[in-house]
Amino acid sequence: MKVGIVKCETYDDVLAKLRECLDSIGGLGTFVKKGMKVALKVNLVMGKKPEVAATTHPLFVSALCTLIDEIGAKSLIVESPGNLYKPEVLKGIYKITEMTKAVEGHNATLNFDVDSAEVENPDAVYLKKLAILKPLTEADLIINLPKMKTHCQMVYTGAVKNMFGSIPGLAKMEMHFRMPDYSHFADTLIDIFLASKPQLSIMDGIMGMDGDGPTSGRVRNFGFILASENAFALDYSAVKLMGIDPEKVRVLVNAEKRGLLDFKDSIEYPLLKIDDTTKIKDIKLPSSMNIHFAGGIIKNIAESLIKPKVFFTDRCKACGYCAKICPAKAITLVDKRPVADNKKCIRCFCCHELCPHAAVEIKKNFIMSILSPHKN
Ligand code: SF4
Ligand code: SF4
Repeated sequence: MKVGIVKCETYDDVLAKLRECLDSIGGLGTFVKKGMKVALKVNLVMGKKPEVAATTHPLFVSALCTLIDEIGAKSLIVESPGNLYKPEVLKGIYKITEMTKAVEGHNATLNFDVDSAEVENPDAVYLKKLAILKPLTEADLIINLPKMKTHCQMVYTGAVKNMFGSIPGLAKMEMHFRMPDYSHFADTLIDIFLASKPQLSIMDGIMGMDGDGPTSGRVRNFGFILASENAFALDYSAVKLMGIDPEKVRVLVNAEKRGLLDFKDSIEYPLLKIDDTTKIKDIKLPSSMNIHFAGGIIKNIAESLIKPKVFFTDRCKACGYCAKICPAKAITLVDKRPVADNKKCIRCFCCHELCPHAAVEIKKNFIMSILSPHKN
């Protein structure tokens, strides 16, 4: 299993570096053939400008479209953001994230078909049958374009997690509610990934995010592009490159248990290897990280004492969106201000992820702040 890793400090160099990265794993032509309809599953978690580094950068997408144009295939930008999945919502998100510009001058279009299609998923643990975005089921090939980021709930979000966006609209929230346990949710994410099985994953790690990702963390110039036909290999490599222990990333831990990462010790790196010279320094982990360490001597401490809590800052504009999308219905508006019921809260951090004003923060529990080995 190969993972191509190249250094790429700026989007000015993205076309040449993307080509180099893909050539190292056999070339884009191994996957894309003339006349194909290629779905590009970008990360457009919400309407954020490219410089916020929450979404796949438009210049990254445009560069890939150039390479697909050269082969004579057609690209279709596909995503179900963490919002309502309606053409008018998509239109606004494409504009803010500059996907509208990304497709200009290419044989590429933006998806506005909001139908879903049911697919069988024989290798799933939970989701043996599920509905995913119809355009993904109709494409000849799916290319997965994740962003390199930390994630408050799942520690890291990359290639496997990016396919959560193949679930239409607010059905994603229902899945959070049905699977509040992080390990079960990790298996759900793997199931969803297996339902669409993108044939190639290419990570935009040029500008990325650490800290309280995936939408309001710290913007970082990581300066990398990674590519692999195996999303698990890519994620394992990206996590190591970020200096995060793969054992702390539930998706990877569960993937290994399910036999999807058996090859991890024999991954080939035809370009850059992962060592002290390439590893990203000073990665800031999410504030919620302590929840992932609940075990050992602290196992018996009451849950309410160790879990982080969400709180609403002065940036709140009282729009009520967090209350609308909260899967556990834990948020109510009191005197036009959101209030979270921590007993009901399942710590999915959707409110933190999707607040349009980045007004939700996560408060590390005092006890866990002391006990947790991750203080950053
Ligand atoms: S926290 Fe964010 S989403 Fe919730 S009401 Fe305030 S501004 Fe709206
Ligand atoms: S309050 Fe926030 S973190 Fe808690 S369940 Fe609701 S959306 Fe998730």
